[in-house]
Order: sequence, then structure tokens, then C-alpha cells
Amino acid sequence: MGKFFSFRKILLLSLLGMVLLSGWGCATGNRLTQTSTIDALLAGVYDGEMSCGELLGHGDFGIGTFDHLDGEMVVLDGTVYQVKIDGRVYQPSKELKTPFASVCFFTSDQEITIEPGLNYKALKLLLDEILPNRNLFVAVKIEGLFKRMKVRSVPAQSKPYQPLAQVIKDQKIFELEEVAGTIVGFRSPPFVKGINVPGYHFHFLDQKRQAGGHILNLETISGSCQLDILNTLTLVLPTESGSLAGIDLSQDRSHALEKVER
Ligand SMILES: [Zn+2]
Repeated sequence: MGKFFSFRKILLLSLLGMVLLSGWGCATGNRLTQTSTIDALLAGVYDGEMSCGELLGHGDFGIGTFDHLDGEMVVLDGTVYQVKIDGRVYQPSKELKTPFASVCFFTSDQEITIEPGLNYKALKLLLDEILPNRNLFVAVKIEGLFKRMKVRSVPAQSKPYQPLAQVIKDQKIFELEEVAGTIVGFRSPPFVKGINVPGYHFHFLDQKRQAGGHILNLETISGSCQLDILNTLTLVLPTESGSLAGIDLSQDRSHALEKVER
């Protein structure tokens, strides 16, 4: 009898575990959470509302920017890194806010080896071949050695804010050579136009945590790429700051986005 009960107990606990695990998976495992929209950022909405601390509650991996557009954000292994206009990497306080960021809890679904000699374009083509379904979100993490890594950061802004396409003229470009580090980013479906960046959006953080930024180009030497397919999107719009009030988000800003991203 005792044996029977313990067996049943184990069975019940296993079932409960499975339910909890699958529930957890639905709740966080395949979810991309983003704050505000790319078009709001393009329109000059640089006042943050979600704190870095709150952002980490939605994910341990991702990219974005900071209050007043103060640099490029990389979230890796649960730590938020800030690459400022001086090209250096800072760890901001949990209170610092973000006007735009996307994060997920990264779990690898697939791993591939990265060949040498790929530039950014070739890398994107390779990933497209591996992931033919463009209508899902994919978190991409590449740990590797790079012959070249061309990254940029943006200067902090003060009011009245200029549109991002204007601000980007003052970006600083850094050309890193023979650098080890991690690419952190996402491929988003075409239908997120206006909300996020359709296609690839990658940031970089070097292994020494001393350099990084928004990737403009690269050349691989070697690396390992992990992919996490995401099928749920949570969009958190700013309300308290009222920063979206009075912003016309009905226009097509894809041309401005093209200027800013590439
Ligand atoms: Zn970026």
C-alpha cells in the first residue's frame, strides 16, 4: 500500500511538474517583451518609463537604448550593459529607465557553428537559410571571434528632442579588430513594421566588457550561434510619462528606420 501511494505521489508530482513547466514555458520561455515602439523612438520619444530592474523581470537577454537615448543597450545573462558615446561599457543602476528595449529569457532551441569570412550580410543570409519561417521572432546569440566588428553608439539627447534620423548624424562609429565577444539580437517578422525592426537587429558586447554597440558590419573568424524561436509578443506602452501623447504614429517611418539602422 505504502509503495502504491508513493508511486502515485511521484506520478502526481511529475504531472504537476509537467503542467508547471509547460505553463512556465508559455508564460516566459517563448515570449519577447518590448517597451514602446520603434516608430515612437524614430519620432524622438527618448524619455524612458520602464526601469532596467523591471526590464530584467521580462528577460535576461536583449537590446535597446536608455533614457535620453544615452547609448546602446545589451542585456546578456541577466546583466544590463550600456555602451555610451565614448565607446565604453557601463553597468547602469537598476533605476535607469529605457524608452525602447526588447528582451526574452533566452533558451537555445538550435545551435550552429559559424564559419570564418562571413560579413553581416552573409551571416543574415545564412540565418535565413536555417530559419526559413520569417513570421516568427528569433533571438540570436553568437559567441565568437571576429576579424572586424563595426559598431556605433549614439549621444544622449536633451529636450526638445530631434527625430532619430537627425540624431544619428552625430553617432560615433567604432571599428574593433580581432575581437572576441557576443552578438545579441533578434530577427523580427515583416509584420512588426512600426512596432519593432523587421529583419535583423544586432548589438555587440566584447568579452572584456569594454566595447560594443549597435552592429553596422562585421567579419567572422569563428563562433557558435544559438537560436531561440519566440512566438509570443508582449508590448508594454508607456502611459505614466505621457510620452506617447500627441505623437503622430500613423506615418510610415520605414525610410527613417533604414537610415538609422544601416
Ligand atoms: Zn540598435
